[in-house]
Amino acid sequence: GLQRDRRDGCGVTRVGIGYDSHRFAPGRRLILGGQEIPHVLGLAGHSDADAVAHALTDAILGAAAAGNIGELFPDTDPQWKDADSMALLRTAAALVEGRGFRIVQADITVITEAPKLAAFLPAVATTLETALGLPHRSIGVKAKTNEGMGFIGRGEGLAVIAVATVEACRSNRSSAGSPRFPPWRCTLFSPSWPPSRTSFLPCPLTLPWHSARSSRIAG
Ligand code: MG
Repeated sequence: GLQRDRRDGCGVTRVGIGYDSHRFAPGRRLILGGQEIPHVLGLAGHSDADAVAHALTDAILGAAAAGNIGELFPDTDPQWKDADSMALLRTAAALVEGRGFRIVQADITVITEAPKLAAFLPAVATTLETALGLPHRSIGVKAKTNEGMGFIGRGEGLAVIAVATVEACRSNRSSAGSPRFPPWRCTLFSPSWPPSRTSFLPCPLTLPWHSARSSRIAG
């Protein structure tokens, strides 16, 4: 319960913000929050140009003061060319959780004149929640136009703003200082993932705090 959470050092909420923009381009897919959205134009970028995933990644990293997406996955590095940005998001989430934070919720606004996104937003939210292992209604996704103004108004590109909250939980770290991971996150790391990060392995068999606190939120 709440008393135990306090003793464990939980309950300190931190907020992060993320912003991303990408230029529309022909011959590219439009992928937002892991969902391919039918449109005559896609988004240009080194990766799959998923601006929703990128903004949310930066919000989560920012909440933990854990750097930013450009540092973790530099667009000068060929290994991130056409990268699946949802995999980058999950990797960033694992990094943040490894530092003793639990991702609580996020709110995202996509700003674009076209296409109309309303029909796709529930699927985008669910995909993001699933990727992060969060309960339903943890992530809000909204769409706005820019009232015809500026680069967005001219249809040159779109922008995304995301905020995320994380909760600091000292108990997320073992007494030895090695982070605990939900088992499903551990499969994200290949042996070749940056050597400095290999201390995240191996994964624990159980995650006592996550299921308990998730059910508290859901309830
Ligand atoms: Mg981007």
